[in-house]
Amino acid sequence: MPLTQPVCPVCRTRPERASSVDRVTSLTRVDAQARADLISVDSYAIDLDLTTGAETFGSHTTIRFACARPGGSTFLDVAAHALGPVTLNGVAVDASALDGSALDGRRLRLDGLAADNEVVVDAVMSYSHDGEGLHRHVDPADGQAYVYAMSFLDAGPRWFACFDQPDLKAPVTLTVRAPQGWTVAGNGPATRGADGRWRLRSAGPLAPYFTTVVAGPYHQLRSEHDGIPLALYARASVADVLDAAAEDLFTHTAACLDELHALFGARYPWGEYHQAFVPEFNAGAMENPGCVTISESLLYRGRTTEAQLVERRTVVAHEMAHMWFGDLVTMRWWDDLWLNESFAEYLGQRVTGNVAWVAFGARRKSWGYAADRRPSTHPVAGNAAADAAQALTAFDGISYAKGASVLRQLAVHLGDDVFLAGLRTYVDRHAHGNAAFADLARAWSDAGAQGLDGWLAAWLRTTGMDELTADHEQVRRAGDTAARAHSVTVAAYAPDGTQLTRRPLTVAADGTPCPAPPDAALVLPDAVDDTWAKTALPPATWEAMPQLLPRLADARTRVVVWNALQLAVADAELAPQRALDVVVAALPAEEDAVLAPVGRWACGTLLGAYLDGDGGRLHDAFAAALRAAPAGSDAQLALARQVVASAVGPAVLAGWLVGRDVPAGLEIDRELRWAVVLRLAQLGAVDAERIAAEAAADASTQGVAHAARCRAALPDPAAKAAAWSAIVGDDARSNAELYALAEGFWVPGQQAVTGPYVARYAAEIASTAQLRSGMVVGRLAGVAFPWTATDRASLELARGVLDAPELDAGIARAVTDAADGLRRAVEARERFGTSS
Ligand SMILES: [Zn+2]
Repeated sequence: MPLTQPVCPVCRTRPERASSVDRVTSLTRVDAQARADLISVDSYAIDLDLTTGAETFGSHTTIRFACARPGGSTFLDVAAHALGPVTLNGVAVDASALDGSALDGRRLRLDGLAADNEVVVDAVMSYSHDGEGLHRHVDPADGQAYVYAMSFLDAGPRWFACFDQPDLKAPVTLTVRAPQGWTVAGNGPATRGADGRWRLRSAGPLAPYFTTVVAGPYHQLRSEHDGIPLALYARASVADVLDAAAEDLFTHTAACLDELHALFGARYPWGEYHQAFVPEFNAGAMENPGCVTISESLLYRGRTTEAQLVERRTVVAHEMAHMWFGDLVTMRWWDDLWLNESFAEYLGQRVTGNVAWVAFGARRKSWGYAADRRPSTHPVAGNAAADAAQALTAFDGISYAKGASVLRQLAVHLGDDVFLAGLRTYVDRHAHGNAAFADLARAWSDAGAQGLDGWLAAWLRTTGMDELTADHEQVRRAGDTAARAHSVTVAAYAPDGTQLTRRPLTVAADGTPCPAPPDAALVLPDAVDDTWAKTALPPATWEAMPQLLPRLADARTRVVVWNALQLAVADAELAPQRALDVVVAALPAEEDAVLAPVGRWACGTLLGAYLDGDGGRLHDAFAAALRAAPAGSDAQLALARQVVASAVGPAVLAGWLVGRDVPAGLEIDRELRWAVVLRLAQLGAVDAERIAAEAAADASTQGVAHAARCRAALPDPAAKAAAWSAIVGDDARSNAELYALAEGFWVPGQQAVTGPYVARYAAEIASTAQLRSGMVVGRLAGVAFPWTATDRASLELARGVLDAPELDAGIARAVTDAADGLRRAVEARERFGTSS
């Protein structure tokens, strides 16, 4: 079972445990239920001292709570570097209990509870560098320090003592002593008192996992909409980037508030709405009420395409939807994670508008389709998480993309009015509390939903996806669950891509009649990407697709074909060589929302894992399209990125670095420049000194990560050795730098240098869970997986990780999934060969 007791970044150890104590697990559902039955929390008062140096901070927490059965015992979660005095109702608690009689190193046993209690915990805690707890980052640009708290999923106890489970919510007051010149933000408006301390109070009860604080010399912008104060934050060194993005962010935030007010019929419940762009963030964003933290990777430094702006707007809308779904009404336990994520994903797309659904199909659904066909797949609702560590592995394409797709189907099935009425009832009934799947089903039933139980069971309690096929007579459906009815639009297309017919259809049975014109060259059963299913196309259709696909006018329709293509390749139904024909013919004509994600798949998975390169066919196609793209256009920028990623020789790219033969209107800004240097590093056309010179010219957080990625990508034994020893052995590097090293490490065509590291991955990756804790462990294991080692011996070696005793849950999930991806590539190579 996994250890979640974090490694203390100061002393680099986990607390010692008495040998009589069982191996530690993370919080189990059973323990959480027992604790919630016994106690209810009235308030938290957290007092932080951030003026005590770069390694640790002071954390003083006072919690008032009631006990239903006086005399009983419970436990408090606290992960301290050093625990000071702890008192319960004024009586000292033996803090050595944390090491001895407690269940694990972060549980503090509290005995002899009264009906009303006050526990006071004084602790010295460690700043983290892994994006969880209280993360501290020093900006390489100016040496300034910034901190932010990430409590999700169970990292709250790394910065304040708490009863860390989603159904023990309480109002929070926060006091912060911060260095001169700092700004402090959190789950409520912040004011600075005469004593120099910052004070904040939450507008409602908080679950520990969405309690936060953001502090540092942040650059801040303010606005207001509909009486709701708005604020944006970013580090001082990227103030100009935030200033440039502010209008788009404030405008979109205001529009989303209006939309969500109308959808929920309930006003934004958390007072002010602050959004802080923070460095080295593990996720896209986190929905802390009143103070969302967003990955700085979405604060684009270079030129951006409209598709990138839509991506950021969708993240903003997703987090705003959480203010109701997740924060105002919180799932009781993590097995109902979908109540948070599927709804935020669905509503985030819905309020961002139609353009967001194209990107959703191309980027998010392909992520979910892959996840739903792995051995690790699980139902959308009820992921069966028995403990918090298992729950963390369910933050995947199923909980997000599949869940959102199923909700789209449900809105059609129920009718939008009933769908929304049920949501409003649910939010109204459970505001500032917790709820479960059955509560939502009841709300929909009360709103007039008919035959709901069977529908929900078929879509939300099952795994996997149906397969839809269409011919000129009917739509066929194959799958495990006969009860899934798909609301789709069936369309037929002429050989020149003209749409011949289009009709809505409910595919409730295999073989639903739907005649198409005899001259149709393509019949798509889900032509505008409405459902969750694999679209399967016959071989003759794939033969025609290089000509047909670029001529399909609706981007949603093309996304359906692109997903069908990737699934057909992964299932070894379509030769990778024939898929490449389609990619070469059709991808350069795509808009960036599709081009970026499908291009990443084509240059990485298709050419790097399924085929041994392509002799530059794809690069030549991108280059030709780039020459034809209007100067300064989105298309030009998007294609330039693909030209760089697909380059097979260094000549053109090396020229761009010195301003030679750069297409008119294309700016080689810092981000595009790093993409060029990365490709040159992969090709062995730059050396470490050159990378160092680029890093010196870009003294920034992003520059440090880019340089790390480029160094790891060099086809040089010394560079690989250095990168690998950091990945498996360095406990001081930040999460961002570790991801960059792992992303750079495996490069198609470098097998001669990376070969020995397949065995090293198998032997060493499991032990990284002793070195680090939280999200970084599983994610790094996934990114560092030897995906370019596409032979059976390597596959068996890598799978061997799963035999390690007491394997971390995050590593187990990452290896299971990555090995499944590698297996598919190996089987396709055996079946179809590898030359293109
Ligand atoms: Zn979310």
